[in-house]
Amino acid sequence: MSAVLMDGKGLSARIKEQVRAQVEKMSRRPGLAMVLVGEDPAAQVYEAGKRKDCKQCGIYYETYRLPGDVNQEELVEVVQLLNQREDIDGILIQFPLPEHLDDRAVQLAIRPDKDVDCVNPSNVGDLILGVDSFRPCTPAGVMRLLKEYDIDPTGKRCTVVGRSNIVGKPQAMLMLLSDATVTVCHTKTANLKEECLRADILITAAGKTGLITGDMVKEGAVVVDIAINRDDQGKLCGDAVFDQVTPKASYLTPVPGGVGPVTRAILMENTLCAARRHGKG
Ligand code: NAP
Repeated sequence: MSAVLMDGKGLSARIKEQVRAQVEKMSRRPGLAMVLVGEDPAAQVYEAGKRKDCKQCGIYYETYRLPGDVNQEELVEVVQLLNQREDIDGILIQFPLPEHLDDRAVQLAIRPDKDVDCVNPSNVGDLILGVDSFRPCTPAGVMRLLKEYDIDPTGKRCTVVGRSNIVGKPQAMLMLLSDATVTVCHTKTANLKEECLRADILITAAGKTGLITGDMVKEGAVVVDIAINRDDQGKLCGDAVFDQVTPKASYLTPVPGGVGPVTRAILMENTLCAARRHGKG
């Protein structure tokens, strides 16, 4: 058996086209602002991607670039300014912030109805309670990919590797809300292989090249690889050893071209949704 590779690029293009078609009919267009602190080269690449996506979808976009030594008050002031602007429906902050800044204070400062990546604790609470609100883009992208391939989590055993606040935890919660039986693994997990082997759906977001080997995957399991790593040749890869996992899995997300592009498309959808909440139509 060889896994079906889940085409995140294709799905992303379809989602963005749907967003574009809806935006085209609106009299006031949605707007997204991204706040970047410091000069992290990876963040600059993400920023360029978001700018391009917004252009494709007809969404107004702007970036606030703040120096790495910006103080807390100045950063919160920028967020508050964006909170007040009617042309901006979604606010995205590149986390983690430099150490001298307080992530939580900034997350709390984002108006919940503009919090398109679901980082404000009130939206995180709604997520846990299963209340309809924004979903964080990456975990929501994974759910969309599963849906696209008719993979129903109901009653399935799901193992999530990783428990970060932005990926692992919300991913586990979304799988639970979709009626999977969920196990969450991390660096203190006693027997990672055993936990992974149990999974009908294995979702990995550890950020460790080579972590998931073929012998950790149950025959026929669905493997979703969220991680974006580099191998020793500097090539992009996920946590799963592709050549070993492909013959075992029924479905697998490639890296690149799997979860990443869908994450970007969900951000466009969330921005459209925020604009509708703000009465734009
Ligand atoms: P993170 O904050 O570093 O969290 C990594 C998690 O993995 C932690 O919970 C850690 O456990 C766990 N972990 C690390 N090594 C492990 C091991 N050997 N065994 C078991 N668990 C292990 O990273 P993140 O922000 O969640 O991102 C995870 C990955 O997803 C990264 O590669 C990132 O680039 C990628 N990512 C991709 C997208 C996308 O759109 N595709 C979006 C966001 C992130 P502890 O809690 O015990 O430390």
